[in-house]
Amino acid sequence: MIPIAKPLLGEEEAEAAREAVLSGWVSQGPQVAAFEADFAAIVGARHACAVSNCTTALHLALLAVGVGPGDEVITVSHSFIAGANSIRQCGAVPVFVDIDADTFNIDPKAIADAATDRTRAIMVVHQMGMPCDMAAVLNVARDLGVPVIEDAACGIGSEILFDGAWRKIGRPMGDIVCFSFHPRKVLTTGEGGMLTTESDAYDANFRLWRQHGMSVSDRARHSSATVIFEDYPVRGYNYRMTDIQAAVGRQQLRRLSHVIARRRALAERYRAALRGMNGVTPPHEPDWARSNWQSYCVWLAEDLDQVSVMQAMLNAGIATRRGIMNMHQEEAQADVPRPHALTRSEAARDHCVLLPLYVQMTNAEQDEVISALDAAIQTSRVRRAG
Ligand SMILES: *Cc1c(COP(=O)(O)O)cnc(C)c1O
Repeated sequence: MIPIAKPLLGEEEAEAAREAVLSGWVSQGPQVAAFEADFAAIVGARHACAVSNCTTALHLALLAVGVGPGDEVITVSHSFIAGANSIRQCGAVPVFVDIDADTFNIDPKAIADAATDRTRAIMVVHQMGMPCDMAAVLNVARDLGVPVIEDAACGIGSEILFDGAWRKIGRPMGDIVCFSFHPRKVLTTGEGGMLTTESDAYDANFRLWRQHGMSVSDRARHSSATVIFEDYPVRGYNYRMTDIQAAVGRQQLRRLSHVIARRRALAERYRAALRGMNGVTPPHEPDWARSNWQSYCVWLAEDLDQVSVMQAMLNAGIATRRGIMNMHQEEAQADVPRPHALTRSEAARDHCVLLPLYVQMTNAEQDEVISALDAAIQTSRVRRAG
């Protein structure tokens, strides 16, 4: 069976977790601080603050820019449901806009139309690792005078040509960037998240909020030579990452350039093979973007049935997934007003298929996927014709 994805974890991560356990310090402590420093250096951000997952990162990011009850946040429906949930956790309302069919990312032209006097933030997603058109997004955001949060859950290692130079996703172009270390992403700590920002004030708030709004960290209290009492100036949350996770994360970061190189090589092999295949369109990478290819998403031709193609692949021992979900089509978000057309989002969910892509995948395994896809398309066509 060829899986859709597979985390890359080895002896280095196992040893790092072991050392963290045996150090006696397992909650947020020195490993978290070191992971944050490593992460900030790699992406080129002034601050990196580790949290329990990307959903809690998004929640803190929204709070930091002042999103509260009754506010509106312009975002895409075509993304993981955590996006809308984090907005609603602030008491705010997501305003869903459509995507660009080529990149599966927010259509910058749709943002201005969706703005009202209640718009408090724009939350864009670097979907499946593909950078958004941030120059266009920031133009609109500046006109509107609203902050931009980047959901880079899948974006570690991706790069964008911005202001004339290549930079890593995570060095904020908007105000705050949020990452996930769930095993389905490019690097993993089991569960985990990271917030990057250039703002000292935002970063200070993240650190306060993630540990119950407590003024002194456990580490500072533990290492203090004088008696200190903590206080609780603001209401907070428990959104901390553990030192065991952070120790694993530091080892994962060391693999990043190898991981990205292999993922990009596999994506290039897919592109070369699928370009000439009848019935599929490989994903588009704009010349200003270098994706980490967290997922490899192809469009199926109009006349093909998504489920029969996926079933034929599964019968051949190959796992696939349908296109990215749409939050507005899920019952949990059925009460969200839907004033804007989401036609391209709906088409992408129902006519796209995600193909297996992971670092350990061999060229031979990938060739198997490619042949199976070709065969699946032909069987589906025959079945449909007959
Ligand atoms: C995975 C994902 C999330 C949620 O990340 P968690 O770490 O699981 O909370 C949010 N947004 C997007 C786009 C994702 O892909």
